Amino acid sequence: MLAPAGGLPRHPSGRSGELFIISAPSGAGKTTLRQAALTRLPDLSYSVSFTTRPPRTGERNGYDYTFISADEFEAGIRDERWAEWARVHSHYYGTSAKVLEQARAAGRDVLLDIDVQGAQQICRRFPESVTIFIMPPSLEVLEQRLRARGTDRPETIEVRLRNARHEMDQRHGYRHVIVNDDLDTAIEALMAILNSYRSTREN
Ligand code: 5GP
Repeated sequence: MLAPAGGLPRHPSGRSGELFIISAPSGAGKTTLRQAALTRLPDLSYSVSFTTRPPRTGERNGYDYTFISADEFEAGIRDERWAEWARVHSHYYGTSAKVLEQARAAGRDVLLDIDVQGAQQICRRFPESVTIFIMPPSLEVLEQRLRARGTDRPETIEVRLRNARHEMDQRHGYRHVIVNDDLDTAIEALMAILNSYRSTREN
């Protein structure tokens, strides 16, 4: 069980930022939604995850992910450097505890794009986190999107679909669920959720 982060210097206003967690099966359109939110809310920080997965074409180190070796990741587990971590699709993924705690101490709102296992760990550590699950309209649409993306081998797609089924079953544990049927509507729904917590806080 992870201990809550205590003893950190707080923002002069005395408040911590909000933690927004989005999870979704791959192919649900989460990256597009995340980028739309970050573009519209320039003061929202993104927690760049660390991973041992090789970069996909177009992914930038330190921006999409920080790409590290399995040895480095495992050293991070031993040194308790991860606020949460998980093995997803046979690679490690994790959130830096230091980066997260610095952002919160500075009072910044932070967006995390992590899987269900990671979301559970963050919620144990920060129970006030706002959790948002993005659903594809159906498993059939998800399969079409994964195949059309052309970035994964057929056997990888099978693994991702199996995981997706399992992940979608967990959506009930999330505070908000958005079905990404129409992208513009889904972006609007996400912005409404983010803004409702941000404005509540500022009142
Ligand atoms: P992908 O390899 O498609 O970028 O991501 C695969 C899965 O790993 C996605 O569900 C994504 O949300 C999740 N993921 C990305 N970063 C992290 C992280 O830092 N921690 C955890 N637990 N999951 C992550």
